[in-house]
Amino acid sequence: MAVVLLLGLAVFNLLRGLLGISLTSVPWIDSFGRRWSPEMALFLVVIGPTLAFMFLSMAKERLKFEYKQAALVDDLTGIPNRRAFLQAAARLLDRLHDRPAGCLLFDLDNFKAINDCHGHAAGDPILRVFARTLTDNLPKGTFGRLGGEEFAAILPIGAKDAAGIAEKIRHAFAEAGKAALATSGEVTVSIGCATVSRTMAEDLLRRADRALYRAKESGRNIVVVV
Ligand code: GH3
Ligand code: MG
Ligand code: MG
Repeated sequence: MAVVLLLGLAVFNLLRGLLGISLTSVPWIDSFGRRWSPEMALFLVVIGPTLAFMFLSMAKERLKFEYKQAALVDDLTGIPNRRAFLQAAARLLDRLHDRPAGCLLFDLDNFKAINDCHGHAAGDPILRVFARTLTDNLPKGTFGRLGGEEFAAILPIGAKDAAGIAEKIRHAFAEAGKAALATSGEVTVSIGCATVSRTMAEDLLRRADRALYRAKESGRNIVVVV
């Protein structure tokens, strides 16, 4: 709308300029190109504040977008943060009714040791690599970073599919993580899966957390499904 108004104003001024310097003296050219009619004055009086209002609205829209991004996107990895993930999970569970939902809870293994050995600066890229692995293997809007080195996903799938996807992500991350680590060594992820129908996101996460605890107890770098 602002572009159309600005173009209209440009055409108006250009025409007035061109007709104003033409040598022909015809009444309509005289009145349009060389004088101010009340209609023209009204046009300019209306268009000025309208444009100002539009630019203000656009600036407000942009600010709103930036705040929304900051509130819902994880700064380090660029994927949805805990708040955005829980909102998306609640929406999905609402839609599913009686059908099962599978929750995958990821926790990078011995991540503190990676920070300690390779420096905190080496840990951040690994978190980004894991976020990229999730982005490459899961549909948009189904996963997020819960905080630290913990991530989660909720999908409309049963236990078998959940285990399959979790294994795929575990392997993909083992490969990608090795490449991301400058020195030799490996970085792995333990995954807890839970599948339930008719429940809340918090309950699914609690169940997946129990599975994750068992994965850690069993030696890490594995998938446990409950
Ligand atoms: P476990 O296999 O039992 O999960 O061990 P862990 O070392 O991964 O778990 P722990 O909870 O002891 O340590 C998590 C570490 O993650 C500690 C913290 O320094 C690191 N961490 C959390 N957030 C960030 C981050 O944003 N960047 C980096 N580089 N490290 C982070
Ligand atoms: Mg942890
Ligand atoms: Mg960990």
